[in-house]
Amino acid sequence: MNFENSQAFAQSLDANDQFHSFRDEFHIPQHEGNNAIYLCGNSLGLQPKSTESVIANQLAAWRNLGVEGWFEGNEPWLQYHKQLISPLAKIVGAQENEIAVMNSLTVNLHLLMVSFYKPAGKRYKILMEAGAFPSDQYAVESQVKFHGFDPSDAVIELFPREGEYILRTDDILAQIEANADEIALVLFAGINYYTGQLFDLKAIAEAGHKAGAYVGFDLAHAAGNVPLKLHEWGADFACWCSYKYMNSGPGGISGIFVHEKHHNDDTLDRFAGWWGYRLDTRFKMTQGFQPEIGAEGWQVSTSPILLMASLNASLQLFEKAGSIEALNKKSIQLTAYLEYLINEVNKEIGYEHFKIITPANQQERGSQLSIICKSDGKAIFDYLVSNGVIGDWREPDVIRISPVPLYNSFEDVYQAAKYLLEAVKQVVKQ
Ligand SMILES: *Cc1c(COP(=O)(O)O)cnc(C)c1O
Repeated sequence: MNFENSQAFAQSLDANDQFHSFRDEFHIPQHEGNNAIYLCGNSLGLQPKSTESVIANQLAAWRNLGVEGWFEGNEPWLQYHKQLISPLAKIVGAQENEIAVMNSLTVNLHLLMVSFYKPAGKRYKILMEAGAFPSDQYAVESQVKFHGFDPSDAVIELFPREGEYILRTDDILAQIEANADEIALVLFAGINYYTGQLFDLKAIAEAGHKAGAYVGFDLAHAAGNVPLKLHEWGADFACWCSYKYMNSGPGGISGIFVHEKHHNDDTLDRFAGWWGYRLDTRFKMTQGFQPEIGAEGWQVSTSPILLMASLNASLQLFEKAGSIEALNKKSIQLTAYLEYLINEVNKEIGYEHFKIITPANQQERGSQLSIICKSDGKAIFDYLVSNGVIGDWREPDVIRISPVPLYNSFEDVYQAAKYLLEAVKQVVKQ
């Protein structure tokens, strides 16, 4: 599509956008009496207007029913998670029995590594992208130590080539093959939080399995952002948080995927708790753990109903939108428009002040563009914030901007680029 650098053009794209009205379903943060230009859904998604009432319904059930709420009322809590499973399964491309909703993301990553990081003999290493989200790095480091290994030996980190920012798929696959005898687990983000690179998860799963390793994905920045096909790709496990692109609120509940092929494998270790026990006999409270068949067998603790309600409000909007594929079409266009406008800003300045390190290929990214400023990055970022443009700053030098198809408009993107240009004029000493 041929874009134009004008507000009228941005508005015409909004007028033709089938999802434009979804913006009204969200609370938009305010800046000096106007809507802020919120481009930070990669960090914390906005609050759906329905969240309050969906949570209020569960507060009412608790108020009116007390403990009976587990079995009584319109939405008995014992079944409440089922409302979440079906939309989530569609979002990540899984069968419903492969999904459970529980805990927080890093906790789930640990629980899943208990089952799928099984060092044995010389196969004890974890291969992952360098510069993974810090929490994942710490989780991996502590897991390998827990098994008695030295992280500097047992964790293989893949770096981009000299002078490059993103990993080439061929290099990832070659490294998996080169280390085939030693890797127990291939663990990759779906999208790297820093660069915004969407990895070829299908190819990574295939290569990891060919090497004889388990393959797991952290989909924190991918779930609710790009279409995924976890079941078809054969990933062994995956986990994600729901407060980024899935708008469940700060610290919202996490989701897990465990591929069906593992559901009847009782040799897999797991750290059990009563909520993973077979539901039909869970409350007989007998000795000896018998897991529920499916991902729910990895649950540990009582369902946090208020957190689930918060996620439910957002998932209802995803359902209403139809499909993640449809949303992704808008996402691709929004992100491409942002990319076009940033290049226009560079042209206007006369040199490349803003270098986009996120892949230019639309198949290798989601809603996010990561930008490195030639100079004055933090001052530019602060200028944006003081003008109500909310992206985020990641040390050492990246500004992340994420236009989200559910609530961002083309005009948001247009305005953000306008302020980028203004920022350079204001804060960069020529
Ligand atoms: C956001 C994010 C986390 C955060 O984990 P929590 O346990 O929810 O705090 C972890 N890993 C990745 C890759 C993330 O993007």
